[in-house]
Amino acid sequence: MEDPKSIGLYGESKKLTPAGVSSPVRAFGPNPLFIDSGKGCMIKDVDGNEYVDLCMAYGPLLTGHACREVVDAAEAQIKKGTIYGAPSVPELKLIERLCQIMPSYEMVRLAVSGTESTMHAIRLARGVTGKDGFVKMNGGFHGAHDAVLVAAGSGSAQGVPGSLGVPKDAVKNTYTVEYNDPEMMSSLLEKNKDIACVIMEPVMGNVGVVPPEKGYLQEVRKITRENGVILIFDEVITGCRLSEGGAQKFYGVTPDLTTMGKVIGGGFCAGAFGGKRELMENVAPQGKVYAAGTLAGNPVSAAAGLAQIDYMRQNDRYDKLNNTTKELVSSLRDSMEDRRVEGCVQNVGSMFAVYFGKESVKNGTEATQVDRETYLRMFRYMLDHGVYLPPSALEVSFMSSAHDDKAVKKIADTFDGFLSEMKA
Ligand SMILES: *Cc1c(COP(=O)(O)O)cnc(C)c1O
Repeated sequence: MEDPKSIGLYGESKKLTPAGVSSPVRAFGPNPLFIDSGKGCMIKDVDGNEYVDLCMAYGPLLTGHACREVVDAAEAQIKKGTIYGAPSVPELKLIERLCQIMPSYEMVRLAVSGTESTMHAIRLARGVTGKDGFVKMNGGFHGAHDAVLVAAGSGSAQGVPGSLGVPKDAVKNTYTVEYNDPEMMSSLLEKNKDIACVIMEPVMGNVGVVPPEKGYLQEVRKITRENGVILIFDEVITGCRLSEGGAQKFYGVTPDLTTMGKVIGGGFCAGAFGGKRELMENVAPQGKVYAAGTLAGNPVSAAAGLAQIDYMRQNDRYDKLNNTTKELVSSLRDSMEDRRVEGCVQNVGSMFAVYFGKESVKNGTEATQVDRETYLRMFRYMLDHGVYLPPSALEVSFMSSAHDDKAVKKIADTFDGFLSEMKA
């Protein structure tokens, strides 16, 4: 039998790029698949195998692969030029839409990635307050810049870099607290007066899916306000996903600043940070906090992103998507219960995560205690049976508006097949 093309391509690729991938999470053993195309909720690899996709590029593809409305918008813009280095109408239209739908947005600056957005938002908070400290959650992920690479997945202590090459000085003002623990946050903020901001994912999405307990986000809003600390919601995943107005609208809690990415680019590079006018007016060149990017706010991303957002805002698509996800999640839970497998499925909107070995996960520390081995066995089984999950127990499984009943049934049946085999 001929070797699958993916194996050959991977052999070539890993000689020239570390582990053969452009971002670490994409690597899995024995070899990652090379994807040739995607349409709706399906992807096809270079060997012609098809999969129901639950990875969905880790978040951007809210309307599925190659959604016609998104492709048309991007194509029309590409034909008019891809970038001008000057303001353009697609940027303005996206900014107007974001200010209309995101409760916290009075002014917005576009960027190229989620990483840039959080880097700029933290700099803005530090610049405005003149304070160097900031707080993040244990297990909270905010991209790949130095200051946030502390406890960005596994529980390292405050001030210890999560990567080689990050100077200790770059993270010495980075504090971590546990998610869903308002007391821990308030005692830190009361003790330490050098804190500019708290940055957090309103729903933790880089340790699986960990929803806020009832009243937690309201409590965080109150604690930060009482201590004069800027609250930043990192909505790079949840923005325009949980609802058109992101998690802040979904839960009714408005932060001072919000970072976005993923969905707002419609599958192209994008980011944004924004919030209160009196804060955003400090961004250069209006103010003295520097934020810049050659490709920032490029019109192709803006046109595609706006098309994706507006597609979702029609015909109750958010409600339908969230309901479809709920149905899938309830069959997955039923399977686990029927087969007496210890674990849980956590879900908010169109995000869900299957955890083995724990009945619930409520913060970053608990997420490190799940049974990752069994998850990997499930990942492999699902892949072999035509369902493409993210290859890590601590990533989100994403649904899109393109996932239909047939896809839901396929996922549920395959998952049940895995559990039955696992129990046999
Ligand atoms: C993906 C992600 C980022 C980083 O975004 P990139 O576009 O990959 O740089 C930041 N914050 C959160 C919450 C994310 O999920």
